[in-house]
Amino acid sequence: MNDTQMKTSVMDVDERIRYAEKLIKESDNIVVIAGIGVMMECGALNYDRDTEAYRIEEEYHHCPEEIMAAAFYNTRIEQFYDFYKKEILSTQLTPTETFPALERLQKSGKLKAVLTYTIYGLGHDYEIENIYELDGNIHDNHCNKCMKKFPMEYLRDSKGMPVCDDCGGTIRPGIRLHGERMRNDILTDAVNAVSKADVLLVLGTNLFDNMVQFAVNHYSKDKLILVTKHEHFTDKAADLVIHEHVCDVLPKIVP
Ligand SMILES: [Zn+2]
Repeated sequence: MNDTQMKTSVMDVDERIRYAEKLIKESDNIVVIAGIGVMMECGALNYDRDTEAYRIEEEYHHCPEEIMAAAFYNTRIEQFYDFYKKEILSTQLTPTETFPALERLQKSGKLKAVLTYTIYGLGHDYEIENIYELDGNIHDNHCNKCMKKFPMEYLRDSKGMPVCDDCGGTIRPGIRLHGERMRNDILTDAVNAVSKADVLLVLGTNLFDNMVQFAVNHYSKDKLILVTKHEHFTDKAADLVIHEHVCDVLPKIVP
């Protein structure tokens, strides 16, 4: 245990929240890693959950990981869009207090970068800059043939499989499909931001997740704040852990 971990391990949840608030107040270089938990609090689907995975398998005859793979998109694009439109694009998301809090952090100049592998376009409706979307997002779509760009709503509201209204080409969703490589330039910039960060704020995920682990490995200070509702055995590697919903905690720790 380092000094911070020793100090925070004996604190109750209110003391932890106040301590996180203090760390954020004192810092001018904060990087956020936002996990799926942030979006689940808004109502996003988590198909890692057994019940969801089972329902999808029953309904579509393939598991979600299979459908969301590049190989599936390339060979069964109509089936892909049937799933993608219904299960991903039609999900009603209700933004939580997390987003205005991130916006405030952005406006204060303290927030240097946000890394996320959620695909719902975290900053789309908010003024949050320097977002590294490692798995892309649902809003930046383009025609495979003429490269014309299409908003999410065009795909969601099209009858059947969406096609380009200019050339009739198929449309490429803006997300990274399973089996595709992460864009190296985005990854490099994201990791650079983490390595320079003073406070690293990890929200709605655990440190066991591959991508989070990779990013956290580049962090060298002792102010890693983890906010997650779900406890995990790797939580103790953080310097300060708060086991609460992100949307309840973030507004309290961001000035
Ligand atoms: Zn086109």
